[in-house]
Amino acid sequence: MDTIATTERMKQLARAAARAGRRIGLVPTMGALHEGHLSLARRARAECDLVVLSIYVNSLQFGPSEDFRAYPRDPVRDGALARGAGVDALFVPDEGEIHLDGHRTRVEVEGLQDTLCGRSRPGHFRGVTTVVAKLLAIVRPAAAYFGEKDAQQLRILRRMARDLHDDCIIVGCPIVREADGLAMSSRNVYLTPDERRAAPVLHRALRAATEAARGGEASAARLTALVRETIAGEPLARIDYVEAVDDETLEPVREVRGKAVLAVAAWFGRARLIDNVVLGC
Ligand code: AMP
Repeated sequence: MDTIATTERMKQLARAAARAGRRIGLVPTMGALHEGHLSLARRARAECDLVVLSIYVNSLQFGPSEDFRAYPRDPVRDGALARGAGVDALFVPDEGEIHLDGHRTRVEVEGLQDTLCGRSRPGHFRGVTTVVAKLLAIVRPAAAYFGEKDAQQLRILRRMARDLHDDCIIVGCPIVREADGLAMSSRNVYLTPDERRAAPVLHRALRAATEAARGGEASAARLTALVRETIAGEPLARIDYVEAVDDETLEPVREVRGKAVLAVAAWFGRARLIDNVVLGC
């Protein structure tokens, strides 16, 4: 496995791959790798000729009072895990490689970026889209792999690629969970033992709503109320939002008829966790 720290070398590798007709699969991450990230790398391995996994803790996507400094970083372990998952090249640019001196360009996906997590994290998705657009321009992948755990991010990036006429296929991969249902996340390390025991309530709540929807309940208000009530039974959880939204536009739905995303964000101590389920598919 190659470790590449500069944009220039990454571009060289991408050009060589293109000349050889090799399809690149890109897996953008912020490191502190876990099985969720590795599932994306394995999918890329199965579908592409050259797998690039990027590790870049993107300061633009953190708010001023968020955890940029505290965000877990473990480059040695990440390298070993990436190699084990079949990654060919680890792209580890520093900030100066991504943002050239005097850079002024930002990428935004209007509307989709302002709901759900965008409401409590203003500027977050603009930070994500700006950096992912640059990664796509540097690596030129045929496909880029993202987790369904970040449902809003995935839909925003699909829209961005489409709107920018970028032919890169944005692939969504299923949420990888711990045995008790908690969605894997680099931020789970922030949880105290008590909070860790409490956190699977998010998955339980979404499962209860999924069952209700399967049983014929279509009212978004009743489904979200069920999620709220289940989470309220866990005193260590503080809900940020629970919403049922259209699978593509992310606009709130009143009735779950077609595909809809039931999404939740909640605080457990200093960890803000998100989870979701797609209904009606
Ligand atoms: P992050 O390092 O948290 O920015 O995540 C990098 C990528 O991994 C994103 O596309 C996430 O959606 C994805 N990811 C994170 N956690 C999981 C998970 N539990 N299951 C599937 N994908 C995940």
